[in-house]
Amino acid sequence: MYDWLIVGAGFAGSVLAERLATERNERVLLIDRRPHIGGNAYDRYDDDGLLIHQYGPHIFHTNSKQIFDYLSRFTEWRFYEHRVLADVDDMLVPIPINLDTVNKLYGLNLTSEQLQDWFAERAEKIGEIRTSEDVVVSVVGRELYEKFFRGYTRKQWGLDPSELDKSVTSRVPTRTNRDDRYFTDEFQFMPKNGYTRMFEKMVGHPNIHVMTQTEYDDVKNVVPHRRVIYCGPIDEYFNFQFGKLPYRSLRFEHVTLDKAWHQPVGVVNYPQTRDYTRVTEYKHLTGQEHTKTALTYEYPSAEGDPYYPIPKAENQELFKKYERLAQATPDVWFVGRLATYRYYNMDQIVGQALATFRRINESLPVGADT
Ligand code: FAD
Repeated sequence: MYDWLIVGAGFAGSVLAERLATERNERVLLIDRRPHIGGNAYDRYDDDGLLIHQYGPHIFHTNSKQIFDYLSRFTEWRFYEHRVLADVDDMLVPIPINLDTVNKLYGLNLTSEQLQDWFAERAEKIGEIRTSEDVVVSVVGRELYEKFFRGYTRKQWGLDPSELDKSVTSRVPTRTNRDDRYFTDEFQFMPKNGYTRMFEKMVGHPNIHVMTQTEYDDVKNVVPHRRVIYCGPIDEYFNFQFGKLPYRSLRFEHVTLDKAWHQPVGVVNYPQTRDYTRVTEYKHLTGQEHTKTALTYEYPSAEGDPYYPIPKAENQELFKKYERLAQATPDVWFVGRLATYRYYNMDQIVGQALATFRRINESLPVGADT
């Protein structure tokens, strides 16, 4: 008899498995339908021995010392500040847009103060900000919107920014200085030996039994367990009874080149040209030394694994229906990005899992079942 059957060995499921096994000394069966642990953060060595991220680049960043300290129990870190360039008008320029982006693109020599005025002159006055287009145009004007955002968003979502809710681009991070870091969080590190090694340590507790290539449906009535933590798609749990929650997917093309380097930074975005949205070169992220280099090209797609919930009001309403069913389902805890139908960064999912653990402790005293 397991105390817990945990569905999904990504951050949500693995953190909870570790907490329940370590702090409550409970027996956990952790399953995943994929042939590996780590969920979307899974990384592996390719045939040439280069460390790559199977599901696209995962950069760890957080402002939470608590979350950073918690993960530090399972890994050492490599300091890494992520930088992204955009291929615009045949030039590689920093994104988020900063002083160097504008000066390079327009052949100018503006100062930070002048750039503020430059943006203000171009920003369009919009009465009520409703769409993603409104958000961007009201900050940087139409020309930069066309160059950097419109094409990228159309590729990424298959929709024009004017059709997407403002929440998709709730904030346009522009800078008037030369800071070219993609993130400004206090903690920006990559797990020194990769995410998968970190997950192995996290779920390596003797109270945790891991089974991959295992479907929830195939074990739920076979393996005795007291409670469930479900980190899969919430609509699937309820047999899609109200309809399917829509997602945008990606196709990843992993390529190894017989040369040491391909591009100057970890990620290059393609907002104007190509069918792919971005190219990642992992050696920048991992610090690995190798005579070859590994890249991933990302092609957005309507079909495939569920990656990005499509942020439209009607989809949120559909999710709320499932959420109400979830709240009325005893002994099942719904955790993680698929069960809550929202895009979250890794640190936010760790935070969600730690908060869930606190709630479990409050509502279920240790040993209550014995
Ligand atoms: P997941 O990692 O998806 O784990 C859920 C697991 O449940 C999956 O492995 C799935 O196979 C399993 N599962 C589902 N249903 C079943 C079932 N019925 N039976 C058995 N198993 C099941 N975050 C960052 O912080 N930085 C980044 O740079 C970053 N980059 C990203 C890039 C891309 C392309 C994507 C899509 C996401 C990115 N993220 C990033 C977000 C990050 O992937 C998520 O925050 C994190 O993976 C969420 O963890 P999770 O445990 O909720 O879900």
